[in-house]
Amino acid sequence: MIYRTDYHIHTLFSDGKADPEEYIAAASVAGINEIGFSEHLNLFSSNQEWCMDPGRIREYIRHIKGLMKINKKTEIRIGLEVDFFTGGEKEIYDFVSPYGLDYVIGSVHYFGETTVDSSEDFYRERDIDDLYTSYFELLYEAVESGLFDIIGHADLLRIYNFKPSYDPEFLYRELASRMSRHDVAYEINTNGRNRILGDFYPDRRFLHLFRQKNVPVCVNSDAHFPERVGQYFDEAYRLLKDAGYTEMCTFKKRERFMVPADFSNL
Ligand SMILES: [Zn+2]
Ligand SMILES: [Zn+2]
Repeated sequence: MIYRTDYHIHTLFSDGKADPEEYIAAASVAGINEIGFSEHLNLFSSNQEWCMDPGRIREYIRHIKGLMKINKKTEIRIGLEVDFFTGGEKEIYDFVSPYGLDYVIGSVHYFGETTVDSSEDFYRERDIDDLYTSYFELLYEAVESGLFDIIGHADLLRIYNFKPSYDPEFLYRELASRMSRHDVAYEINTNGRNRILGDFYPDRRFLHLFRQKNVPVCVNSDAHFPERVGQYFDEAYRLLKDAGYTEMCTFKKRERFMVPADFSNL
């Protein structure tokens, strides 16, 4: 059996397109055992219309905790997807710590003042070789910050299919080493399939590097619509099986639990 979790969900509290209740119903239909909400939180950038107003965090938590009480069929978790910025570590820690979340996803959307997932133009005016190394440096910092339980869509900069001229394997190898050392999990994020990339994050060619370093993994949809909860999960599970994974991680109150996953029937 596979205990199916989906910890990366956006609702109307940030840039998702429906209420949390609709995602819980969709999770039940999709056979998801445990759903976790992860609204965008950005404490630093002014350009944040896709993020939850930080002033609404108590309302968000109260709302999801209320849903935990009345939904017995689907386990519900509450988290955040937090934008990582170098130098912002203390502010993030101070903001997030008091709320008793189940997990925090750390994501690098921003490169300087710009998000890497908003427009292809961002890539057209840049040296992609340099961009890859610089972006991974930010990922390393996010990993080593100690702020996050899960690193979100680790190689988001693949979104528009711009590729470096070199084989980036060494970057993934280094990322896996640092995640192992700092005990941080990653996600297979299936939402890249819905973008120009047409595939998951991180690059499926390198999953074995994370497995070799025993980096814990979970599979997440990054759903902004209820119908995308659990989307493409069987394919992601097959990739984990091929990489040699036999377990996935779950979270509760910032504690990680490893759950055996039987991928044999896929
Ligand atoms: Zn994201
Ligand atoms: Zn997201």
